[in-house]
Amino acid sequence: MDRKAYLREYNKSEKGKARYKKWEQSETGKTYRKRQYERQRAILDFYKHIRGCKYCRENCPGALTFEYRNPEEKTLDLNQVNGCYKWGDVLQELSKVEVICLNCRERQIWQQKIKQAPWPALALGSPEIAS
Ligand SMILES: [Zn+2]
Repeated sequence: MDRKAYLREYNKSEKGKARYKKWEQSETGKTYRKRQYERQRAILDFYKHIRGCKYCRENCPGALTFEYRNPEEKTLDLNQVNGCYKWGDVLQELSKVEVICLNCRERQIWQQKIKQAPWPALALGSPEIAS
């Protein structure tokens, strides 16, 4: 067994998990995790900023969110970054999402509701999302 395979096995064992937990709660572990989280978060925020909202000109990362074209494909929650995601997985995930601002998303949800509504309020029409 090579070292890598051994470590993989070890990390899966009870002993390995306990050790990781201890490390995670130590000062070094906390700092490391925090830094990793901040880095991942910052890069994703930057990505959001460059892409901007699909529909409007919003480009503030705080107002933007990732939306899946097909929610069934979701394997990671990019909106809940914890710093532990592998970059390979994140990149793969980014190919499945659109960047959309919360305002436009709410508008979309509302439009869906209006379309399905049984009452005749529809005469008002639903404003199209400005493109
Ligand atoms: Zn928007």
